[in-house]
Amino acid sequence: MSEALFDFLNELDKRTSGILRTDEYSRILYSTDASIYQVKPHAVLLPQTVDDVQAAVELAAKHRVPLLPRTGGSSLAGQAVNRALVMDFTRHLDQVLELNQEEMWVRVQPGIVLDALNIYLRKYGLLFGPDPASSNRAAMGGIVSNNSTGSHSIMYGMTADHVLEMELLLADGTLTRFGPLESAALLQQTQKAAWKGTFTARCTPSPRMPPTRKSSAAARRAIGGAAVATIWTDWCR
Ligand SMILES: Cc1cc2nc3c(=O)[nH]c(=O)nc-3n(C[C@H](O)[C@H](O)[C@H](O)COP(=O)(O)OP(=O)(O)OC[C@H]3O[C@@H](n4cnc5c(N)ncnc54)[C@H](O)[C@@H]3O)c2cc1C
Repeated sequence: MSEALFDFLNELDKRTSGILRTDEYSRILYSTDASIYQVKPHAVLLPQTVDDVQAAVELAAKHRVPLLPRTGGSSLAGQAVNRALVMDFTRHLDQVLELNQEEMWVRVQPGIVLDALNIYLRKYGLLFGPDPASSNRAAMGGIVSNNSTGSHSIMYGMTADHVLEMELLLADGTLTRFGPLESAALLQQTQKAAWKGTFTARCTPSPRMPPTRKSSAAARRAIGGAAVATIWTDWCR
């Protein structure tokens, strides 16, 4: 173990209220996903709170240790394995935080499994439409990151069509929120220094980009939610 990794894990252990596992057994357990790859992580964190995730991101930036968020691990191309601190959101950060029945949206944590979310929504006559076949394992963090969909994609579109807003941590640990902005606010945002400005500028569609697909009437019955504490650092490059 390198000195930087040792210091990182030591500091993280002091700051986190989550479970930090460095034993061989846990590392082997988290060395596989649904792909052909097998890579043992440096350690595994089961965060209990957004603060735990934020601490991990800040310290990883400080010690330059790679981080890998993970939910169901059902990715097929090795997205959920690496030599990194793997953070599993499905243990504790798996709750519905808010439901707005009238406007038909739900705010969720990234570890909630899609089938569990849809069982919750069924009693309100609602459904999250995009349906990867792995929905009894796949959770919203991975579904949003992979922009998943399934056999009803013609009716419901992709996950990106249903994400209304996201609260996320940038690579320096800044907690921020991304959602629709009016043009004046958008311009102001792109001129901001540091990560948020760069991110907004990169993700602002240029006039030549095709408009976002309109939801069908059926898809409007479906709802999107914000995956809390999702970490996206390099999106839209
Ligand atoms: C049998 C089977 C059937 C499948 N069918 C489909 C299908 O029909 N359609 C489809 O699109 N895919 C399908 N897949 C692929 C996969 O299941 C989906 O892409 C699924 O949405 C991944 O979700 P997950 O929770 O397992 O994500 P993971 O594999 O755990 O992670 C996926 C990605 O998301 C990132 N991530 C996870 N949580 C966070 C977070 N909190 N913040 C930032 N990034 C995060 C991970 O780092 C990783 O890059 C299938 C896979 C299997 C094994």
